[in-house]
Amino acid sequence: MLKAYFNDGHGTETPEQQRARMVEEQLRSRGIRDPGLLAAMGKVPREEFIANEDLGDAYGDHPLPIGAGQTVSQPYIVAAMVAALELRPADRVLEVGTGTGYEAAILGELAAEVWTIERHEELAMKARAILARLGYANVHVVVGDGSVGLPQRAPFDKILVAAAAPKIPESLVVQLADGGRLVVPVGNRFEQQVQVVRKVGAKTVVTAQDPCRFVPLVGEEGWEP
Ligand code: SAM
Repeated sequence: MLKAYFNDGHGTETPEQQRARMVEEQLRSRGIRDPGLLAAMGKVPREEFIANEDLGDAYGDHPLPIGAGQTVSQPYIVAAMVAALELRPADRVLEVGTGTGYEAAILGELAAEVWTIERHEELAMKARAILARLGYANVHVVVGDGSVGLPQRAPFDKILVAAAAPKIPESLVVQLADGGRLVVPVGNRFEQQVQVVRKVGAKTVVTAQDPCRFVPLVGEEGWEP
C-alpha cells in the first residue's frame, strides 16, 4: 500500500524526504552518531506503521497514538533506546512492547534475529502483518506478558523494554546472555529514567541514562492493569 505525499507543514514532501529530514533534524543534531542506526532510521517507512488519521504527523518529533490506549515513541527516543543496546549484526534481541512494530523493524535492520512480545493481541496481529508485508522475516511477533520475558527463546544478547517498569524485571536479567545488555525505563507511572543493565558473569552493572516517559509495563513483573 502506498501512503505517499502528505504535508507536515514543510510543504509537500515525500515520506523519503521527511525521513531524511527527521534523521538530520531530530537524530543527528541531538547526538545520535551510529551510522548503521541512522541508516536504519532513514530506511524504515514509519508511515506504514501509523494510522491513516495521523499520517501527516508520521515523522513528527513526538509520540503518536496507536490504539488500545498505547503510543509509539517519538523517533529520537526510539533511536536513543536502540543506540543504548550497542547492537551487533549477530545479536538475538528481545523487544518487550511491540506496539506498532516500528521499533522492531529498526531492530530487525540491525540484528540477526528479533523476538518482540506484545500483551494486546490486536496490536500484535497488526504489527505482524505490517512486518511481514515489509519483508522483515527475521522479526517474530508473540502475544503475551513480556515483563517475564520469553524464556522459551532465551538467552538474548540484547533486551529492549519499550514500556515503563516499576523496577528492573528479574526475569529479563536472567534471560540475558553473558555480556548482554538490557535497556529499560524504570520509575513510577509518570516519569522514569532509562536504565542500562550489563550482565558480566554473575554480576550486573546498572547505569542510569536520560529521563523519559513511557506507558506502563503491565504484567507479572510490571504494574497491575
Ligand atoms: N515499540 C513500540 C512501537 O514501535 O510502536 C511502541 C511501544 S509502546 C510505547 C509500549 C507497548 O508495550 C504497548 O503497546 C503496550 O501494550 C506494551 N506492553 C505493556 N506491557 C506489556 C507487557 N507486559 N508485555 C508486552 N507488552 C506490553
